Amino acid sequence: MIQENLKRITATIPDGVTLLAVSKTKPCSDIMEAYEFGIRDFGENKVQEMTSKYEALPKDIRWHLIGHLQTNKVKYIAPFVHLVHSVDSLKLLAEINKEAVKCNRVISCLLQFHVASEETKFGLLYEEAVQLLESDLYKQMHNVNICGVMGMATNTDDASQVRREFGCLKQIFDDLKQSYFSGISDFKTISMGMSDDYLIAIEEGSTIVRVGSSIFGERDYSKQ
Ligand SMILES: *Cc1c(COP(=O)(O)O)cnc(C)c1O
Repeated sequence: MIQENLKRITATIPDGVTLLAVSKTKPCSDIMEAYEFGIRDFGENKVQEMTSKYEALPKDIRWHLIGHLQTNKVKYIAPFVHLVHSVDSLKLLAEINKEAVKCNRVISCLLQFHVASEETKFGLLYEEAVQLLESDLYKQMHNVNICGVMGMATNTDDASQVRREFGCLKQIFDDLKQSYFSGISDFKTISMGMSDDYLIAIEEGSTIVRVGSSIFGERDYSKQ
């Protein structure tokens, strides 16, 4: 079933867009089915779950942290995380830098922006990102690499609203690129789009779509 789903979904994803398989709550056996299909990028939103899956599974998997990250948990993922999508404060970025130094790594990060109308979603406002990027503290960080932006659209059936919010994130990316990352080729990632809206996200410029339930089926949180 998972491989059938992947066949259908990968056929809709153009070259240059990465499919991130969001495996949160799903067992390692499901991840291995996707792995055997050829998927190497997996997304998790809980530090402990990601760490135990990392330990159990093949080491060529690229692990993406997509959920809200608490500073006191950064140390557990710093040795292996491929990309942190959810940087929403200078304090968190400083902690990631500190732990990256200890591991002698440079950790790739995305700035998460709040573009949805729901208040519950995490993320920076543009002015907050400007403050972060212009701070002396940020300028002294050598072990984090900001590679782009991430965001979530409102959970709504109104496709035009979703498209507008993704367009807003693309505009934020373009503005940051021009003002702070011009000529920096690593700043190229726009992480947007989930199972229900990834096709719209691709049309609006996404370079990484984060797809969970369309690949692995609905999540059952009652078992947790
Ligand atoms: C769970 C999750 C996804 C995947 O959601 P689906 O609707 O199952 O595709 C994508 N992004 C984030 C940040 C998530 O927490």
